[in-house]
Amino acid sequence: MNMNERTTIAAISTAMSNSGIGIVRMSGDQAFQIADIVYRGRHGKKLMEQKSHTIHYGYIVDGEETIDEVLVMLMRGPHSYTGEDTVEINCHGGVFVVKRILELLIRSGARPAEPGEFTKKAFLNGRLDLSQAEAVGDLIASQNEYALQSSVNQLKGNIRDKISDLRNKIIYHTAFIESALDDPEHISVDGYGEELESSATEMMEEIKKLIDSADDGRILKEGINTVILGKPNVGKSSLLNVLLGEDRAIVTDIAGTTRDVLEEHITLQGISLNIMDTAGIRDTSDIVEKIGVDRARDFARDADLLIHVIDASSPLDDNDFEIFQMLHGKQSVILLNKTDLKMKVLKKDVEEAYFASNPAKCESDNTTEQNVSHKVNQDKIPEIIEISAKNRDGIDRLETVLKDMFFEGNLSFNNEIYITNVRQKTALKEAYDSLRKVVESIRNGMPEDFYSIDLMDAYEALGSITGETIGEDLVNEIFSKFCMGK
Ligand code: GDP
Repeated sequence: MNMNERTTIAAISTAMSNSGIGIVRMSGDQAFQIADIVYRGRHGKKLMEQKSHTIHYGYIVDGEETIDEVLVMLMRGPHSYTGEDTVEINCHGGVFVVKRILELLIRSGARPAEPGEFTKKAFLNGRLDLSQAEAVGDLIASQNEYALQSSVNQLKGNIRDKISDLRNKIIYHTAFIESALDDPEHISVDGYGEELESSATEMMEEIKKLIDSADDGRILKEGINTVILGKPNVGKSSLLNVLLGEDRAIVTDIAGTTRDVLEEHITLQGISLNIMDTAGIRDTSDIVEKIGVDRARDFARDADLLIHVIDASSPLDDNDFEIFQMLHGKQSVILLNKTDLKMKVLKKDVEEAYFASNPAKCESDNTTEQNVSHKVNQDKIPEIIEISAKNRDGIDRLETVLKDMFFEGNLSFNNEIYITNVRQKTALKEAYDSLRKVVESIRNGMPEDFYSIDLMDAYEALGSITGETIGEDLVNEIFSKFCMGK
């Protein structure tokens, strides 16, 4: 049989490194037959004859040659991850042995699975909706407690439920309009516009909430993009080393040694920070360093969080002033470092300088939505924390402040849904726009059939989140990003 016609897929599901055990997985209508070709049980029993959800001890053989001693797990469809007959071979976890077993399965009639193909089958067989399938990928990739919790909730179906709820409401309205148009004698649309308007507005609010959750969601999933700013020699690298707990960034006494941008990932109390340690911001004529400084400014513009480090033992100057200007309108903290030395800069000096540096002095109360992502709409002074990177003082305080800034102390996952995915966010925006058009049409007194089109657009857009209304190409693209064997 040609490879493409084979319907049973096989892949190594565990990491390709030597380890205690390895799992080779097979799914499809031939899975049991193929397993029987390569498996020898102790009493010569065939796997085909065994009950579902049982585990069997035996050997994998290639003709006369025994390859490994294994445990084989059997799950008959539809009660399996993919919804199809599935066999999992637990073997010893050597790279060579798992490869041999996979090769043997392929020689016996299976086809090598594409990345994510098991999960794709689960989706196509209706075991998972697309938001749950994506949650599987996120769960595997999660780097911290919160990312894990959020993907588990999504896997349990919290996004699917929310989306179906919205879609049901929309379909109810569409059905009503269609019936009324078909049968105007019996079904009246008088006053219906108002009802639909209030329902659409309510749905828009719910969708808006989901869209707004996306920034928190991204932060949960990928970490807080953080830039450490400060003049040369104020202790930025030392701070980074303290946070990392190791000597990774180069610490020297010569101003301007941290030339390029180092990116480091750390987890503080369950949240991840992606820290860019940039070249010291200062007026520089050194061309190499200048490039680093420009990049620092670019990174700072896009960052979720800015940490401005000040050397408390030497007076503030124009360079600090320039950095203060970058902090306005961003989430930021100011660290007064080297507090173990004689302090020439105090908190109140920093406060004064910060306020003096505000480019848009005092028109702050209704600042525009320049940075929607981060709830900064008032020019509030950033928290100023006294630290000593040298003595590791004040670091606990910094951790607590950061956690409070981003998650207001504690995150609750019980009811909250966090959108962590650009695709889902885009679809929500489309649905929102379509509903807005519905509301506009009602207000402009347009006829009913006019807005039923926009209602259907919203319905479709939401359906793409759960995968009900998307094409094969997109499905393939989504699953191609998954890891092998999942
Ligand atoms: P960067 O250029 O901002 O990255 O600064 P570094 O981390 O390279 O530090 C510059 C110098 O300041 C080094 O000699 C550090 O040992 C010193 N330094 C950093 N933090 C402290 C601190 O908290 N107290 C004291 N006394 N010295 C520090």
